[in-house]
Amino acid sequence: MENRVIVAGAGIWGCTLARILAEAGYRVEVLEKRPVIGGNVRCETDPETGIEVHVYGSHIFHTHIPEVWEFVNRFVRFNGYQHKVLARHGGKTYFLPLGLALINQFFGVELTPGEVAGFMAEESHRTAIFDAFFRNYTSKQWGKAPEEIDPSIIRRVPVRATYDVNYFNDYHQGIPESGYNSLFERLLAHENIEIKTNCAFELPPGGKLDCPVFYSGPIDALFGFKFGPLPWRTLRFETEKLDVADAQGTSVVNYVDSDVPYTRQHEYKHYHPELKAVMEFPKTIVCREYSTAWQPGDEPYYPVNNEESAALLAKYEALAGEIPNLTVGGRLGQYRYFDMDKSIEAALAAAKNFLEKNQ
Ligand SMILES: Cc1cc2nc3c(=O)[nH]c(=O)nc-3n(C[C@H](O)[C@H](O)[C@H](O)COP(=O)(O)OP(=O)(O)OC[C@H]3O[C@@H](n4cnc5c(N)ncnc54)[C@H](O)[C@@H]3O)c2cc1C
Repeated sequence: MENRVIVAGAGIWGCTLARILAEAGYRVEVLEKRPVIGGNVRCETDPETGIEVHVYGSHIFHTHIPEVWEFVNRFVRFNGYQHKVLARHGGKTYFLPLGLALINQFFGVELTPGEVAGFMAEESHRTAIFDAFFRNYTSKQWGKAPEEIDPSIIRRVPVRATYDVNYFNDYHQGIPESGYNSLFERLLAHENIEIKTNCAFELPPGGKLDCPVFYSGPIDALFGFKFGPLPWRTLRFETEKLDVADAQGTSVVNYVDSDVPYTRQHEYKHYHPELKAVMEFPKTIVCREYSTAWQPGDEPYYPVNNEESAALLAKYEALAGEIPNLTVGGRLGQYRYFDMDKSIEAALAAAKNFLEKNQ
């Protein structure tokens, strides 16, 4: 068996694969373009306050996939944080997602669970919710005029006939008690793994690979943007330290009105309610998130899925498919939004597939 493999990209997809292949006896070289591992789940702890700052936006681990939950729990313990998101509209604060709490507060009614479906079946009620909570937020997120946002999307938004304000439906949730970076450090702490940071993988001239390569960088970059770059939305984060122990009383508030230019404000200390000293420290860190147009060279965050980008992606995928020994995966490689659990699930599947074929 060819014993050496290269994993290019030390995000959650690459680190999961590296670990499984190392445990199966392969010598794994992890190449990471950035100076640090962790991909977009990377955090930095503020030395003064002890607050874990999510460098590329808030990340909450949530899953209903037993194998994924079991896998991550081999490396870190989760703190049981349950994610709630509030929405600021017209000077008032509401609980998302769309459920009894929001509907009753917004319309000033006292619906029972049995009355919700009938109430929301009314066109005028759906339109009012769409205009207040979805139209402007979606417009800011995707850089489109509010009139361009398709009102029919509200029909696809699930309505909860309960007061459950837990943002995710997943059974397992939390933040690693020891911080996200420790998850990546522990995933790669194996005698068969060698990590090379500041080291970008490039296809050798002629494209011939002398060992299996698992690549999770951008698929268009791998081929020198031969057919042009795939389009993305990017984000700008405005981070501020404030002289109060608690600025907004929760981790995330969505700003759904058009007069506020950012989409959300994060307050990171709320992700670790178990850290009493951090919670009570008389300072906090907030971060306002702006969604903006992407230019080549910017950090890619959300793929822009349309017919044009699908056609471009198909061309790059065809090129990748012609290269023996190459597996392309992850959010950048597949040009898809994946939550962390789905990235791990995909990496576990890719590793299993490879091992079955090669043992
Ligand atoms: C704003 C935002 C918020 C999110 N919040 C959540 C959340 O709350 N919960 C959740 O489950 N998921 C969340 N996600 C999704 C999560 O970020 C992804 O699931 C995860 O980052 C995917 O990991 P990855 O390994 O595919 O990609 P990445 O994390 O992007 O890792 C890819 C790595 O490859 C490196 N690389 C690129 N090119 C090369 C090269 N040529 N050679 C070597 N290395 C290279 C990059 O530097 C990077 O480190 C969020 C995503 C966004 C955009």
